[in-house]
Amino acid sequence: MTRADTGTRGVTVRVPAKVNVQLAVGAARPDGFHDLANVFLAVGLYDEVTAAPADELTITCSGPDAAQVPLDRGNLAARAALALAERYGIEPAVHLHIAKDIPVAGGMAGGSADGAAALLACDALWSTGASREELLEICAELGSDVPFSLIGGAALGTGRGELLTPVATGGTFHWVFALADGGLSTPVVFGEFDRLTAGTDLPVPAAAPALLDALASGDPAALAKTLSNDLQAAALSLRPSLAATLAAGTGAGALGALVSGSGPTTAFLVPDESTARRVAAALTASGTCRTARTALSPAAGATVV
Ligand code: ATP
Repeated sequence: MTRADTGTRGVTVRVPAKVNVQLAVGAARPDGFHDLANVFLAVGLYDEVTAAPADELTITCSGPDAAQVPLDRGNLAARAALALAERYGIEPAVHLHIAKDIPVAGGMAGGSADGAAALLACDALWSTGASREELLEICAELGSDVPFSLIGGAALGTGRGELLTPVATGGTFHWVFALADGGLSTPVVFGEFDRLTAGTDLPVPAAAPALLDALASGDPAALAKTLSNDLQAAALSLRPSLAATLAAGTGAGALGALVSGSGPTTAFLVPDESTARRVAAALTASGTCRTARTALSPAAGATVV
């Protein structure tokens, strides 16, 4: 796309949601964050962020959850645009539109996805010439999950989740996601994790070799056996009704199930597309969730479309 093109039409970036196939949580650090071993898988539910020239920074959002998205400078997309503008001495005169399909406050890193997408869109709009490393640095400053939204695919995140190592995947995995009514705040879920684990000696978090092998083999049955989320007990403690959703999905034929990140979205790994459709229909009919969506993984990271 030429600079003239971007000036008239703006730049649109498509960005995926994520599921954590493993989320191992260590003790709280002095800075308040927890050390994590976080195996991210990008999944094919997408937001699109369009950056177009404007008189000043403005932001709009469309989609079923749009009313829950802040339209001020607290929005991660706005924060990304401001961070890039500041670094390159550019006036942040941009309109950002978020076409939102990733559930809000659902544990699928929707806000982080919009941050990464806005960063890439503004970078293209302003032709900053920033390197991939510089963009990843800004992402890490914006939030622990933002760098992964930029790179997509599958990766192990260590530190507070922001230090990424790509992970091999041997095939396409099929998922069903049960969307819940209302969100769960990530800091509140970590607080509940701290309460539930107080006084216990938490092991140093590490990626499970069997899980990495299962991802590399592309075998969904092997991956299902190794799915784990240390935040699941905390999410269930705060939202006990999620147990019924997990049971409904496994009862309908999912190979494995877990709370996605900090929840309340629940994720169901299935062997193929027809099972995905069946499990999604059963979840919707069960009345234990707002709706169910099917998606494939791994998905590509933030991409200009
Ligand atoms: P994670 O999985 O990274 O913990 P999440 O998917 O649970 O995050 P988000 O959808 O990222 O949650 O939203 C968390 C909160 O962030 C929202 O309640 C909202 O107030 C705020 N927020 C800021 N920017 C955005 C955005 N672009 N989209 C959605 N929420 C945003």
